[in-house]
Amino acid sequence: MNARPKKSFGQHFLHEKRYIERIVSAISPRPDDFVVEIGPGEGALTLPLLAAAGKLTAIELDTDLIPDLQARAASVGELSIIHSDVLKVDFTALAHRHGVERLRIAGNLPYYISSPILFHCVEHARAIQDMCFMLQKEVVDRMAAEPGSKVYGRLSVMLQLACRVEPLFVVPPGAFRPPPKVDSAVVRLVPLGPDQLPDADPARIHAIVKAAFAQRRKTLGNALKNVMDADAIMSADVDPKARAETLSPQDYVRLACVPAG
Ligand code: SAM
Repeated sequence: MNARPKKSFGQHFLHEKRYIERIVSAISPRPDDFVVEIGPGEGALTLPLLAAAGKLTAIELDTDLIPDLQARAASVGELSIIHSDVLKVDFTALAHRHGVERLRIAGNLPYYISSPILFHCVEHARAIQDMCFMLQKEVVDRMAAEPGSKVYGRLSVMLQLACRVEPLFVVPPGAFRPPPKVDSAVVRLVPLGPDQLPDADPARIHAIVKAAFAQRRKTLGNALKNVMDADAIMSADVDPKARAETLSPQDYVRLACVPAG
């Protein structure tokens, strides 16, 4: 099927075989895996993933694409399509419902909501074994950025505190129909184990990171003034004159551990 891609759903269908193969091989689904694909579209990744795993659950918002995909999948494997906005899907409940410990999530994501999808997955990280996503390259650069880099920010800190971030390869616009305006990249995210997770309240970390990067040109003392004072910042061994982008993810964890004054 060659549906007319809908801009409002962020539809850029992958058509170049070699990139499809590279993504499927990066995921390497096995028959025991419970694979969930976000945004199957016309099935460029769905059908090869289904062939490898035998069964697959896909989450698609565009009703028009579902009947054709379901029909084409029938001879390949057991495809279950959830018609929903992925942000409304509770991954933890989905895993429980199917009696699996952890899901493997994949997708060529709709770019207009890529960050909300990443944050949504992080909230369910304990129910996820790994994720393999296609995103704008610029977003993957931000996810993997280190302190001091121009693109290091809230996304870098929050993702790196929850997952190992592994950028894999770049995909040019010509691999899609229609071509997006920017390069894309594939990234693997592996949620950290319980003993590697920060020992601090996630909501507190989030509040501090958000406030720090909301005013990244200001010193931390200024940017965090509604969240904590200079003495509290210093008690975490952080310089209140430093700027948000110079702090490591662990520095933010220490700030979040300072008892509220
Ligand atoms: N996987 C296909 C491919 O690689 O050719 C399509 C990828 S396309 C970039 C993104 C897909 O996500 C589209 O099928 C689109 O309809 C779907 N989508 C958009 N918003 C969505 C949402 N909120 N929840 C679930 N799927 C969504």
